Amino acid sequence: MKHIDKREQRFITRLTLQDQRLIKDVYPSIEKVEIEYTMKHISVFGKSERSNTLIYAPNRPNVFEIDCINRECTQEYFDLKSEVRKMITLNISEKTGVMRCQGKEAEDHLEQSCDTILDYKITIKYKN
Ligand SMILES: [Zn+2]
Repeated sequence: MKHIDKREQRFITRLTLQDQRLIKDVYPSIEKVEIEYTMKHISVFGKSERSNTLIYAPNRPNVFEIDCINRECTQEYFDLKSEVRKMITLNISEKTGVMRCQGKEAEDHLEQSCDTILDYKITIKYKN
């Protein structure tokens, strides 16, 4: 059960490192951020896929993290914060992209990369 402790440890670290500010305080001109995504993970155990749309209102924390679909993943999430920041800096409303999870397949499978693929579309609505 060693990996459970490590997971918990990582989760606590993750929360500590998260931005404590709200979106409206960091980006007053933003009305809404929307992230539409499809995630795919293929391993020897099978294939999993998830699609979802996340909506971030201005009163939410300035955190744009999506959990990896592979529950054993050592990285556990995708961080889209810098993508959102880049878009706002350049005043872009829509952007699509693909990210590959940088984690490992599992704590007891470190020789194997997680490789979950995240296909995303970020839409930002600015205040007029
Ligand atoms: Zn992963």
